[in-house]
Amino acid sequence: MDDDTPKRDDGTRQINHSDTDDVASTEDDSSSAASGGNTTSGEPVSGDAKSEEELDGEGSPTDENPATDDDEPVTAEDIDIRESIGPSGSTDGETDDDSSTDVSLDEVVLDDGGSDSRGLFDDLLSGEPIFENKEVLRPSYTPHELPHRTEQINQMATILVSALRGETPSNILIYGKTGTGKTASAKFVSQELESTSQKYDVPCEVEYINCEVTDTQYRVLAQLANKFIEKNFDVIENELDRLEDLRTRARDTPDLLADTSFDSLDGVEERIEQLETDCEEMETVPMTGWPTDRVYSTFFDAVDYNERVVVIMLDEIDKLVEKSGDDTLYNLSRMNSELSNSRISIMGISNDLKFTDFLDPRVKSSLGEEEIVFPPYDANQLRDILQHRADVAFKSGALTEDVIPLCAAFAAQEHGDARRALDLLRTAGELAERGQADTVEEAHVRQAQDKIELDRVVEVVRTLPTQSKIVLFAIILLEKNGVRNINTGEVFNIYKRLCEEIDADILTQRRVTDLISELDMLGIVNAVVVSKGRYGRTKEISLSVPIDETEAVLLSDSRLGDIENAQPFVQARFDN
Ligand code: ADP
Ligand code: MG
Repeated sequence: MDDDTPKRDDGTRQINHSDTDDVASTEDDSSSAASGGNTTSGEPVSGDAKSEEELDGEGSPTDENPATDDDEPVTAEDIDIRESIGPSGSTDGETDDDSSTDVSLDEVVLDDGGSDSRGLFDDLLSGEPIFENKEVLRPSYTPHELPHRTEQINQMATILVSALRGETPSNILIYGKTGTGKTASAKFVSQELESTSQKYDVPCEVEYINCEVTDTQYRVLAQLANKFIEKNFDVIENELDRLEDLRTRARDTPDLLADTSFDSLDGVEERIEQLETDCEEMETVPMTGWPTDRVYSTFFDAVDYNERVVVIMLDEIDKLVEKSGDDTLYNLSRMNSELSNSRISIMGISNDLKFTDFLDPRVKSSLGEEEIVFPPYDANQLRDILQHRADVAFKSGALTEDVIPLCAAFAAQEHGDARRALDLLRTAGELAERGQADTVEEAHVRQAQDKIELDRVVEVVRTLPTQSKIVLFAIILLEKNGVRNINTGEVFNIYKRLCEEIDADILTQRRVTDLISELDMLGIVNAVVVSKGRYGRTKEISLSVPIDETEAVLLSDSRLGDIENAQPFVQARFDN
């Protein structure tokens, strides 16, 4: 039995340096970070920075780059990198305008010409509001009804009901793409489970952990340990109150003890002392610093302190495995054989259908005792979901009749993502509100779609690793200079020059090719393999996102920002 101890990672990963357990809110905020709400052309030609100039006031000094005559395909040799980078306003990603709104601050203030002095906010306030309760459309809102998820919810309930009978439910793995209602359904079920357990007074508890935030074994175990320690304290405190009261009364009336499990006052005294010692021994886990073994055993003791069935929900479990491997799951899934009072059951939720490929086979079979799939919603289902929310969120008559079907149709294309559908509807409403429209129209939905798409791109690009950013920047430079059919070699050459400029490590061409494939998978570039006959095959790469915004985001990175100030280097020559 000695191999049942959680030694598998004996200390290799025990210390977790990032000690903030801040709940980095993953809630989207579509008004964030985007460089401008205007939709932009994705044309791969430069000199088209018009929209940016207009927005920023400061126009670009140079627009004379060699590529604007588009008949003459420019080769990579013609590129002067310094020239190419500079112009479009050296933005630092803060083109934080909202040019999509029709009301500018100027207008609002100037509108003041009338007799009654209207302030900055009057017009905005007096506009007929579109929303009744916008919060209902936010991802943080938990709906009370989940249309089209009855089947999955019933499946979960059928498995978890054992917990209410004091038995250990099978472990469950839930799969489905983002926005298919996994988190919402799981939370709904856990609320029901806990409230029923209270109703019948059975010891059953659910712990929800979002592994995107709590993403190391240390953190997961520490969070669980501390939750249970807290619960144990509560239980002990109540018990102590009760016993101290009993002690006082039993001193006067010893017969009282006849109805209890205690033979004598000394027994009560002993129990009180025992509980007090337990309390002292229960030490909460600090956010960093302990060896993992110690965190694990603290958690183990805390759970096993009382009789209970515990369901541990690990949402975004694929993120945990990706970041920290499967040690956590390995240790958790083996606990039941050692626990004496309690039982645990794991419910893993994953966006990635293939994440179990990376698991130890034992973990995989244990975790996947039951599997539930959340299929994407189709457009009709999304309509229902939106309608339910819209009824509460909007003033009556605020939506024209095309709005919900269009949001549903867009989101259905986006792998049936209900989150996207709700974002679209909310953003469309916000755009209408800012434009002081009386109703939300189809056009607002289209505008919202563009805005959300741009926000997504900005976010993806912003969070790329530096090396990928340099590779992407190289592709942008080539495109801005009108190079067509860009191949990996060309990207690599520019990439090398950029690395030299900012003193970054230069990866091998092979690695750069991998990074290009990753950018392709993220939808930032499009790389198609073309056959060159007897010269073999090559990749042709093109940008699939708006060039100016992307460039602005890249330059807002302090490392890449240096490229602008770096020593000019004249011509990028390719000497393969
Ligand atoms: P997932 O966890 O699968 O990525 P969520 O459960 O977070 O998806 O759902 C995304 C958003 O869509 C949430 O705001 C959620 O409330 C909403 N949602 C998903 N499915 C439904 C449904 N069937 N009915 C109502 N709202 C839903
Ligand atoms: Mg989720």
